[in-house]
Amino acid sequence: MSFESSCDETSVAIVENGHKILSNVVATQIPSHKRFGGVVPEVASRHHIEMITYCIRDAMKEAGVNYSDLDAVAVTYGPGLVGALLIGVTAAKTIAWAHHLPLIPVNHLAGHIYAARFIKPIVFPAMALVVSGGHTELVSMPKEGQFEIIGETRDDAAGEVYDKVGRVMGITYPAGPDVDKLAHEGHDTFHFPRAMEKAPNYDFSFSGLKSAFLNTVHHAHQVGKTLNKADLSASFQAAVVDVLVHKTRKALKAHPVKQLILGGGVAANLGLRSHLKAMLAKDFPHTEFLKAPRKLCGDNAAMIGGAAYVFYKEKKFAGADLNADPGLEFKWAPGAEE
Ligand code: ATP
Ligand code: MG
Ligand code: FE
Repeated sequence: MSFESSCDETSVAIVENGHKILSNVVATQIPSHKRFGGVVPEVASRHHIEMITYCIRDAMKEAGVNYSDLDAVAVTYGPGLVGALLIGVTAAKTIAWAHHLPLIPVNHLAGHIYAARFIKPIVFPAMALVVSGGHTELVSMPKEGQFEIIGETRDDAAGEVYDKVGRVMGITYPAGPDVDKLAHEGHDTFHFPRAMEKAPNYDFSFSGLKSAFLNTVHHAHQVGKTLNKADLSASFQAAVVDVLVHKTRKALKAHPVKQLILGGGVAANLGLRSHLKAMLAKDFPHTEFLKAPRKLCGDNAAMIGGAAYVFYKEKKFAGADLNADPGLEFKWAPGAEE
């Protein structure tokens, strides 16, 4: 059984051997946060408390399992909102203790990567591009259980910027899916900046793009002009995708791998999926593209169960003193210092 409650989704899943989903119940709080334009931590915690027991009940019912059928309990213990994480961690610890099951702490980002595991096994060495609401990272994975962040955003995460630019266009939170749709109806007419493209590293920066976008919209507003939302979206998306594809290509050149894994909420983006695919086909024909299924890109507990299986095999368990770690660095498990 696995738990995910790091942000605004309460989720419980039953996963068999890390790759077969028996159930994956996701209670989203999006409607509650919409009117605030983003996630309100206190509201999130309260919803998690209200929902978690129903999620446990439904996940077990849907999977047709009893507590005696479970082998382990896995949970996201960071990074995320501390009050939100605590609900999942407390629920997982309680079930593990009551039913004498091992407790497996999972890093949320490892979960986003292992969402792709439900397509097929990960083959090493691999590289992962994780793009989500709070993260944009290139992760080198030489072998199972090992990884190294080789590039990350210096400021805003890609998903965060999607939500911000969507907001100024009047699109409610989370804006990513709608901006993606609009982008396919417009053209790159604004030519927004591509930051750090020439920098000799694999890092990203999206705050300049965000400012350019906001300035363009505000300026038009001041002079009473209405801009075409589809073209704005297409131009914004082209800039984001260009930078992500460019830096991924650079990373793959320096670190040849068997698979490129794409995960995280923004991995559902159709423009990003198709451009990465085209880049791989052209420049790295021997690297397989393993994308998280679109349904599993957003936060869910199945992906946590997928990642947890790696630690289950290695017996990397935690005790009842496991705590939520909101600023958790990308480590596989407590004590697994790289
Ligand atoms: P993190 O995983 O970094 O802790 P998070 O869990 O809040 O952050 P996710 O749930 O993984 O983030 O992803 C949510 C983000 O994905 C939101 O910013 C949302 O707008 C974005 N998103 C979802 N679908 C798309 C899409 N099709 N195109 C672009 N962005 C998208
Ligand atoms: Mg979310
Ligand atoms: Fe996430």
